[in-house]
Amino acid sequence: MLIDPFARKISYVRVSVTDRCDFRCVYCMAENMTFLPKAELLTLEELDRLCSTLVAMGVRKLRLTGGEPLVRRDVMLLIESLGRHLKTGDLDELTVTTNGSQLARHAEGLARAGVRRINVSLDTMDPAKFLAITRWGKYDKVMAGIQAAKEAGLAIKINAVALKGVNEDEIDDMVAWCGGQGFDLTLIETMPLGDIDGDRTEQYLPLSLVRARLEKRWTLSDLDYKTGGPARYVQVAETGGRIGFITPMTHNFCESCNRVRVTCTGTMYMCLGQEDAVDLRTPLRSSEGNIALEQAIRDGIARKPKGHDFIIDRRRKVPSVSRHMSVTGG
Ligand code: SAM
Ligand code: SF4
Repeated sequence: MLIDPFARKISYVRVSVTDRCDFRCVYCMAENMTFLPKAELLTLEELDRLCSTLVAMGVRKLRLTGGEPLVRRDVMLLIESLGRHLKTGDLDELTVTTNGSQLARHAEGLARAGVRRINVSLDTMDPAKFLAITRWGKYDKVMAGIQAAKEAGLAIKINAVALKGVNEDEIDDMVAWCGGQGFDLTLIETMPLGDIDGDRTEQYLPLSLVRARLEKRWTLSDLDYKTGGPARYVQVAETGGRIGFITPMTHNFCESCNRVRVTCTGTMYMCLGQEDAVDLRTPLRSSEGNIALEQAIRDGIARKPKGHDFIIDRRRKVPSVSRHMSVTGG
């Protein structure tokens, strides 16, 4: 079992399988991005070995993310292969976070591999706004993907980043739509990760404000429900659905942190909001056995920091953390 210096059990790993993406969301990336050369990336076999080692060390939940995980070539082979750990009971959950663009063709394969729930990022239900936020995204394709996932029997959680002046007037409608479709909805505060083309102070909308507004229309009650992630959930009495709030900015959720992140180059970040990291690619490539790899993982967990200290403020021109969310994996 992996335990960090603050006695937190590390049972959840998010693995970025690619830094590439077919969208360019305004809060996540600049329009002109330089992606990593392919040789830097872990191969699918290396990703499998790394994930399987983590499972053997006590990790119970794996989330594949990116960039857009479903644009990586042959990623379904990796997902199918990792599904073996669900069958043995060594892993409780295998899941993905996706922008939904490739879901129509992969939803059934995901379900077959043992994936039960997925997160789909959708910040708006207005096609014109969707294009403005994602720059390159195709709204109809994403909606078709979400329906395909529903038909394949996957439980769906919609992730929406709350953006001031962009989607704040729509959150009510999204609560109603998600409730009607049987989807959970999770709202996220924007975090100062990586240079983007715009100013983050203009995007930042505290969820405390969003919640207060939602309470004018909906009856919300706090839930104990946990999915192993950072969201705090409420039940919506009128729809029977749930809303999760991820509040890295207004609330420090670090005390219950149970996770680490691994990039597509095999760098393990012990905290989304800190720079310290360990290289797992070198031990992966330097020997066929996993002893060095296991030691590097343990060394990293032993250095997991207490928490992050994000600040979004006008006087501070540089982001708190220079790497983009698409590098560390959301
Ligand atoms: N491409 C996939 C997607 O969009 O779902 C997976 C990776 S994406 C980086 C994961 C999540 O991070 C998305 O829900 C996205 O909205 C969120 N995200 C990206 N940049 C963010 C930021 N600066 N602050 C808060 N959330 C961010
Ligand atoms: Fe791509 Fe996801 Fe970042 Fe949007 S949030 S640019 S879909 S990685």
